[in-house]
Amino acid sequence: MRRVGKNSFTEIYFAGCNPSFVETSDGYVMIDSPQQPIDAVRWRERMEEKAPIRYLINTEPHGDHISGNAYFPNVTVVGQVKLQECFERYLYAFGTLEEKRERFKETDPDSVWLVGHPDYPALNPPKLTFTDTLTLNVGNHTFNILHMPGHTAPQTSVHVPEEGVVFTGDNVFYKCRSWLQECDPWEWLAALKSIEALDVETIVPGHGDPCTKAYLKEQGQIVENWVGCIERFVDRGLTAEEALREPIEVTRQDPYPIGQRLFMHNERLTDMIVRNLHQRILEKKQQPTA
Ligand SMILES: [Zn+2]
Repeated sequence: MRRVGKNSFTEIYFAGCNPSFVETSDGYVMIDSPQQPIDAVRWRERMEEKAPIRYLINTEPHGDHISGNAYFPNVTVVGQVKLQECFERYLYAFGTLEEKRERFKETDPDSVWLVGHPDYPALNPPKLTFTDTLTLNVGNHTFNILHMPGHTAPQTSVHVPEEGVVFTGDNVFYKCRSWLQECDPWEWLAALKSIEALDVETIVPGHGDPCTKAYLKEQGQIVENWVGCIERFVDRGLTAEEALREPIEVTRQDPYPIGQRLFMHNERLTDMIVRNLHQRILEKKQQPTA
């Protein structure tokens, strides 16, 4: 557990995203939920012993940010309107409950009994939604919840001015491999500029250590490197399949190793990045210029 502001904390060593919370004078506000069921229930018990949890804000629809919501059954979840629409689809993208339970038998036996447990029958998708921005005042804290599409379409940052902190979800990967598998890279670069414009000392990324605005330039460079790399394939007239048969120097685009328990997805990720960016760059080039 890492303190990132006077009353703000994040957990960077769980399998999954960096779930975080702010302790206000009127209870807790969480940002994303622990991915592993056992981590989620332990978190909830420790917090609720001290104070109630008022809100849980999801920064994006990827499973590592939302699958723990179910273990906070009485907490109101906040999310961008598109996140509410796609919540279930993303949650089940990596298999049914039965498949999840089987996987946990290998990877996280302590969580097995919590999968499909009758005390947690609901997935707990966002109930409170917003389109562009939403401000919540809880105790003495302000939560500026800002739609910043990029890494995903519903991508959201949570800016807490009293703490000098912004929680960005995966628009920032601090020194671990960036996932560009479904991003709009140009929106992502714009989002990094919006984060830069916030008056904050600390950025809590979706993955990796908390950092400062100094890292945003490097994050932008990684997105630009990938766009440049795939653009050269598109300019040569290669299809995505043909591009994938070309040598791709992954560490020249993004020097960082894949984090957490995701190493088995390293090659598949390159494949997904090439396909996503190839399609987006092609579509952009085919658009008539005004
Ligand atoms: Zn993500």
